[in-house]
Amino acid sequence: MTETPPEALTSDPAAPQIAQSLAEIRVKGRGLFSRALVMVNGDLSFDEEHSYRTPIAGARSGGTTRYSLAESKDDGRGYQGRVDKAQARMSKQDSEVAVLQETWDWIEALHSSFPDGAHIRVVVVGNIGPCTGCKARLELFRQDLIGLFGAGRVIVESVYDTKQMFMTKNYEEKYEDYETGTTSTVSTTYGYEFATVETYQPPNAPQSVSYWLYQVG
Ligand SMILES: [Zn+2]
Repeated sequence: MTETPPEALTSDPAAPQIAQSLAEIRVKGRGLFSRALVMVNGDLSFDEEHSYRTPIAGARSGGTTRYSLAESKDDGRGYQGRVDKAQARMSKQDSEVAVLQETWDWIEALHSSFPDGAHIRVVVVGNIGPCTGCKARLELFRQDLIGLFGAGRVIVESVYDTKQMFMTKNYEEKYEDYETGTTSTVSTTYGYEFATVETYQPPNAPQSVSYWLYQVG
């Protein structure tokens, strides 16, 4: 076994928390799970005042919420101009929808207590990269944070540990539009084509941990 050379290891101070979240998600077994790590001004205490670790959510954790992209009532927050309607509908109960809602609720409740000019970093950690619909949700979420914190003060990242950086799946004839009764082929890509690999060496562990990381926006 070869050791990872020190210069190839990540210098991200949040890497231990990211690796721990990936491990906690892995023991959940089959299914798609995610959680967010939210850090104000780089805080890593996760004391729920300066930084926050959401619960791990599975699919169907949340229905029509702020980030469903399927609520047409919500002006400017729908799928239109972002993804296909089918794409948004088939993914509207993905774990990320619940995680982004939980993250937004925490930020909104505590925002007034953050120092002026605060920076925020949100890492959405999952066992598979976000689908095409959830990529659009992450972008919408990032825009919300920019509205709150200002441009240049927001980092939103996606982390996952599948073998492949990204994979495309075609769901043929499986998606039925319940309004029109038509079926369509939906192609969705999990993960990001231009993610980078991050490698973290836990202290006293025999092997390093590697994962994909992509900065949204
Ligand atoms: Zn998704």
